[in-house]
Formats: sequence, structure tokens, C-alpha cells
Amino acid sequence: MSAIIDHFQTLTQIPRCSKAADKLLDFLVDFSKSRGYSVEVDEVKNIYIHKGNPTLCLQAHYDMVCMGKAPILETYIEDGVMRAKDSSLGADNGMAIAMMMQNMDEGLDLEFLLTADEEIGLIGANEVAFDLKAKYMLNLDSEDEAEVYIGCAGGADLLAFKEDSYVEGVGICYEVAVKGLTGGHSGVDIDKGIPSAIKVLGKYLLENDVTQLASIYAGERRNSIPANAVVIVRSEKVLENDGDVSVRVLKEEPKVLKEGSKIITLIDEFRHGVLAMDEELDIPNMSINLAIITADEKGGVKIEVSARAMAAAELEYMTATTGEFFEFYGFSRTYRRQISRMET
Ligand SMILES: [Zn+2]
Repeated sequence: MSAIIDHFQTLTQIPRCSKAADKLLDFLVDFSKSRGYSVEVDEVKNIYIHKGNPTLCLQAHYDMVCMGKAPILETYIEDGVMRAKDSSLGADNGMAIAMMMQNMDEGLDLEFLLTADEEIGLIGANEVAFDLKAKYMLNLDSEDEAEVYIGCAGGADLLAFKEDSYVEGVGICYEVAVKGLTGGHSGVDIDKGIPSAIKVLGKYLLENDVTQLASIYAGERRNSIPANAVVIVRSEKVLENDGDVSVRVLKEEPKVLKEGSKIITLIDEFRHGVLAMDEELDIPNMSINLAIITADEKGGVKIEVSARAMAAAELEYMTATTGEFFEFYGFSRTYRRQISRMET
């Protein structure tokens, strides 16, 4: 271990802020050549180091976030932990580079992929121009000790839209609201059984035979489980508070959406949450978050959902079936946007 720490110590003295890491690039090229490795550098300054017939590729980024006095680093040890005085330390991802240097000292048949400018938007990783030989890759940029990530869900956002017209309504006007539920991240928390404010509200409206919808504002962000949902409705039946649902009478007589009842049914029918589990790993394979619904007199009806899956084919399947689902309810246009990595 101490040899790795020594290597890390060396790295702390070489400037490597994002977009200004040429000194480290030169250093790594020289270091790997002196240990008998072949080196290539691509256009965006990713570095590819290899020897022999490697079965494993180790990957790290070689830029760091520079805060305070960085890239001038003065390290010290406090209670057995290395820190940097008035600056960021760059252990992310410097410790990975130090481990790679140790592997090269030992002359192991490995390949090393060092990507440029990760901290400012995965710039290098998005443009890697090398043909890697190894069948397996281990990314060394992790936050948790003694844990290995074996994959990450990919995702896609779907936006559905439809026009609707307004007609006269009948009955009393109510604001019906579900507010302040727990919420959570649509990926990380989707399997925790957190109730969706949109689903809670939809169920209430359906059970109380509400069909006249004047407006809806529900959900907060595309990647969060809805914590709040509010509708303005007309109802001939008296509506009352029920659990998380609170009801308020309004002295208005708004027009209502011609096809508002379809939206209420849609909310109830939509399969929100985990759609399939990976039994072996005990993690969600496919999940979908009914994230945001808005409808008012100005903007028409808009729905946003975020789908996540562990495999491309499953994501494809989910976006296709969800698109068809929305079309069934009269949504004419669905847009898709790919999410290239887990957003946290
Ligand atoms: Zn990192």
C-alpha cells in the first residue's frame, strides 16, 4: 500500500485540473514507456496504455476538480488520513492512477484507459477512439470502499402531449390536493414502495367518480417520484378529505377539459414503479416513473415520464409500449430523449 501512497504523493505535485492536465499526460506517457508499456493518446487526450494480451482493462479519469490553491497541493496527514491544505486533494481519481502505476511497476499484462476531462462532463469518455483488447473493464472511479458496481441502468424520458378543448362544467368546484409526500429519486428509490402523489390523487378521483377536470399540476421533476399533485375539478357529488388527499371548495365555475376523465383513467391505468425485477441480483430490471402531468387552458395536456432499464432492448420495449399507451389515450406526439448515464 505504501508504494501506492508514494505514487499518489507524486501525483499531487503534478498539475491536473480539468482542461489543464497536460503535465500529467506527459508524465503518464513517460512513466508507462519506462515500464515497457505501449502508449497511445487520442484527439481529446485520452491515454491508452497496454502490454501483452490483457484480459482486463482498468479505467480512470486523470483530471481533478481544482478548488482553493489547487493545482498547487500541500498534503498533510491528520489522524491517519491524507488531506490537502486549503485545496481539493484529487484522490478522485488520483488514487486510481496511483494503483495503475503500481500495476505497471509490477509489469502486469493489463490495459489502462485514462480518460480526459471527466469532471466537466465526461468529455474524454464520450470520445474514446481506441480499440480495447480486454473483454472486461473495471472502472476505478467509485465512492464506496469494497463495493463493485457491475452495471448501471440506462434511461429515456418520454414527453407526451395532446390538445384538448374546454366545455361547460356542472357541480361544485374543488381543489383536490396531495401534498408533501416523501418523494425520492426515480431511479435509486423506485423500489422502496414510496407512494406517488399522482397515483394517490388519481385513485381518489376515480373512486369518487370525478370526471370533470379543469386543471392539473402534478409532480416536480422528471427524475423524482411525485410528492405533490393538485387538481381543480367540478363534481356534483360532495368531495371530502381522505387520508393524504385534502379537499377545498372554491367559489368558481371553471370550464372543464372535454376529455378530462380520460386523464384520470390514464393515471389509474399507468403502471408506475418497478415493472420487472432481476431475481438473481434482486434489483429492478425495468422501472418507470410517471413524473409530471400538467393541463390547463393555455398549454394543453403534457405528461413526462422517465423509464429506466438494465438492458437496451428492455428500454426499447418500455418506450415503445409506453408510447402506444399514451396514443391510446389520444396523445398524438411522444418525444424521446436518451439519458446516457445515471443522473443523481
Ligand atoms: Zn471521479
